[in-house]
Amino acid sequence: MSISEKIKDFLLNVCSADAVGIAPASALMDEPEGKRPTDILPGAKSIVVFTRRIPDGAIQAAFRAKEDGNEDAFSSYAAYARELTPNMSVFFMQFRAVKFIEDNFRCVAVPIPSGPMQNVSSTNLPLPAFAGPCQRHYILNGPRAAMAAGVGEMGWNNLLLTKEYGPRQTIGLVLTNIELDYDAPYTGEKLCMGESCGICAKVCPMAAIPPCGEKGREVGVCGRECSVANINDNACCVASLAFRNEFSGKATTPDLIMDNNPDDETLAAAYGKKPFNHNSLGHHPNYYCDKCMLYCPVGNWQQRFGDKGLSKFGKEEE
Ligand code: SF4
Ligand code: SF4
Repeated sequence: MSISEKIKDFLLNVCSADAVGIAPASALMDEPEGKRPTDILPGAKSIVVFTRRIPDGAIQAAFRAKEDGNEDAFSSYAAYARELTPNMSVFFMQFRAVKFIEDNFRCVAVPIPSGPMQNVSSTNLPLPAFAGPCQRHYILNGPRAAMAAGVGEMGWNNLLLTKEYGPRQTIGLVLTNIELDYDAPYTGEKLCMGESCGICAKVCPMAAIPPCGEKGREVGVCGRECSVANINDNACCVASLAFRNEFSGKATTPDLIMDNNPDDETLAAAYGKKPFNHNSLGHHPNYYCDKCMLYCPVGNWQQRFGDKGLSKFGKEEE
């Protein structure tokens, strides 16, 4: 086995990753200063990308809350699909992979926090970490790295889509300073169905995602391009962080923002009024709207959830 094959075998068969690909570090050298592979590891040559799917049972727990009104079920989704377990799971997989690579191949390997909650900045920011001027904090651009490594492609919802699981997986990244065998970017069938689907835009309760084809941008890497939406992050925050009681869960929240397009000042002022939360890993209450991820049909959604009676989505229109 080559070194690349050994690394992939370790991730797939020892760490239980669902997919692994390897991209050249040069694929992300057009990222902003500070976010390029060599800014994190001088001499970086390769990015090992892996994914771990979120179990269907944890995903469907969100449907029990959103469709049946069973708010207790949402705790299962939050803990096992969104916050605690996916983060910890990928943390440990990355740590084991880095140890394996360094111990066996005499090189340096860096685990890159990349899952939900891992890639945000400290919570003493005036705004939620993924809003306004702090938009989309990440150390290394995971979805673009995954595209370059042939794992999948980005959808209109801005998430990495894979044929098998759609957007319902976590990405793990490891940077290393050895040259490896690189996978070609994903060249399979187009995964995001764009205007013929448009579900992510339709289900967004804040209209934060524009209809497909409107207000989009091209994200390219290694010659492969995808159209993604310019998401209104501030609007998304109103639902995701429940700045309005209609988006709250078991614990009600005050109506702090009624504007559907809040500016940074409005968001910062409302954020300052959120109580510190001792029960959340992020120390501020998360409510996880996530409809743009939960209902994306890519990844056999109909067979996994619709046909099994785990979601009523789409049935209302029949
Ligand atoms: S919901 Fe439809 S339009 Fe949106 S990302 Fe998924 S496939 Fe693309
Ligand atoms: S998480 Fe919810 S509010 Fe935010 S973009 Fe997705 S569907 Fe819209």
